[in-house]
Amino acid sequence: MIKKIDHIGIAVKDITEAIKLYEDLLGLKVTDTEVVEDQKVKVAFLPSGDSEVELLQSTTPDGPIARYIEKNGEGIQHIAFRVDNLEEKLEELKEKGVRLIDDKPRRGAGGAMIAFLHPKSTFGTLIELCERE
Ligand code: ZN
Repeated sequence: MIKKIDHIGIAVKDITEAIKLYEDLLGLKVTDTEVVEDQKVKVAFLPSGDSEVELLQSTTPDGPIARYIEKNGEGIQHIAFRVDNLEEKLEELKEKGVRLIDDKPRRGAGGAMIAFLHPKSTFGTLIELCERE
């Protein structure tokens, strides 16, 4: 069961400049920043109402976010939905023939358990499912 939009992931080249825009011009505030080593990404979370903006900057030239920007430019990279039982949801989607990037939940930023669905199965949008304590 999808609970809500947890966050929207936005790929940027310069997270410091992007944070300035979101804080100074849009009035959001960064509550958490973190480097996720296995994704080669630095993230900043800015809550907005019941959801968050997740800014993503690659920490290496060959990371997934760097490759995304090379191909598509900066901008919305994924949308994350909050679920209650991620493992169960992945099993259900797999049974229904949805192509998954992550077969099993893995640890994402902010201690959440996450898994991505393949855009080929979701009309071109990279969807993250996210379970939080
Ligand atoms: Zn995300």
